[in-house]
Amino acid sequence: MSRILLSAVVVFFCFTLAGGNGYAREQKSRYVTLWYADREVLDEFNDNLRLNRKLRNSMRKKNVVTIADEVLAKADIIIEKVQIVLDMFPNKYHVRLVLLSNPDDVAAVYKKRYDKRVDYIAYYSLSEKTIYISADDASLRVLAHEVGHSVVDHFFKVRPPYNIHELMAQFAEKHVTD
Ligand SMILES: [Zn+2]
Repeated sequence: MSRILLSAVVVFFCFTLAGGNGYAREQKSRYVTLWYADREVLDEFNDNLRLNRKLRNSMRKKNVVTIADEVLAKADIIIEKVQIVLDMFPNKYHVRLVLLSNPDDVAAVYKKRYDKRVDYIAYYSLSEKTIYISADDASLRVLAHEVGHSVVDHFFKVRPPYNIHELMAQFAEKHVTD
């Protein structure tokens, strides 16, 4: 194969890999790196994650073209709201948001990492700075709770005791709709 032809083939494959299925599975916003297994999970998550009217107003300012854009915009709005509710504004806040299909998938990820059986619909990994969430069970309150954990985690240099961490996440969950 000639060098020119080889480069052409390489370029073609790069294009195919980048644009093959028409969307990227990993996308970034100001606060979030979003990852999802497939389009179905993304759609399900977006349908279930409904903002209240107040938070929806902030959506108008966002540039939303794709479903992933919409999910990222919602996540950024919820994160900003939780920071206001908790009155904690960490300097370098960034999380990964991993969308899984259902609680079985959440349990599988948890089992692999911690070798323990759980029935969580979502959890925040302190060591990975990552929110894992079941698309089937997604809601404003569930995401606000996990975002609460992540904001607390980013804010304190010394990690608060578990019960305090949990109380603050519950506070975020409760007041995100205020
Ligand atoms: Zn919690």
